[in-house]
Amino acid sequence: MNGVETGMNEHDPESTSEATPLVVAMDGPSGTGKSSVSRRLATRLGARYLDTGAMYRVATLSVLRAGVDLSDAEAIAAAVADLPLSIGTDPSHEVIALDGADVSEEIRGDAVTKAVSAVSAVAEVRTLLVATQRTIAARAGRIVVEGRDIGTVVLTDADAKIYLTASAEARAFRRNQQNIDEGRGDDYAAVLADVQRRDTLDSTRAVSPLRSAEDAILVDTSDLTKDQVIDELYRIVGQQVSVRRGGGAR
Ligand code: C5P
Repeated sequence: MNGVETGMNEHDPESTSEATPLVVAMDGPSGTGKSSVSRRLATRLGARYLDTGAMYRVATLSVLRAGVDLSDAEAIAAAVADLPLSIGTDPSHEVIALDGADVSEEIRGDAVTKAVSAVSAVAEVRTLLVATQRTIAARAGRIVVEGRDIGTVVLTDADAKIYLTASAEARAFRRNQQNIDEGRGDDYAAVLADVQRRDTLDSTRAVSPLRSAEDAILVDTSDLTKDQVIDELYRIVGQQVSVRRGGGAR
């Protein structure tokens, strides 16, 4: 899982002191448990947390509300040009609003989930949101930023980069279970098809395709519990910080 051995451990003050700036880039496809582990990792590190997927979802909601044709990139770009988006960075309390109104539920619904890949493939949308993401990360100083292109594009000099992955089946199983738990029905086959469709769209798009940064550590969560994943991530962050700051890699 991780070939770097530096002798650094989790008690190293560089990575655990809440006063030290620390940027952690967390990338990977949907359904790896990325959001919940990123949130928990942020809490454990005493850091802020940014869910960039939520930002693309809000942009998509705005596009849908504007009634724009999803195959018209120019119209999509125009619809998000002045996006009135607010997003919080408290890992224990999600705040996500469009035009001042809470949209945290609506952005997870089917309509947005189906349209988000098309909207996030538009270069102007990415330029706008990436700029905002960089500003938020710089202001926070100590933050876990979660998405698809954080280590490769948004924050290329992050202190630690992690790429979470899991088999499509494991990811679909988890997402379907989440749907059941939240009363949204039980349809594993449809969820698996959607996971595969989004993987293909996200990894083959021309702008910022989903891929692991060369200097990211790959963590496969298929057979790990959330607690095991958090422990592993916490250890990896300590190691990467040590390598980058102590080993002259930056
Ligand atoms: O993480 P989440 O599943 O909420 O992301 C929704 C969608 O937003 C992804 O399928 C992808 O199309 C897009 N996204 C992106 N770049 C990011 C984060 C999300 O393109 N950094």
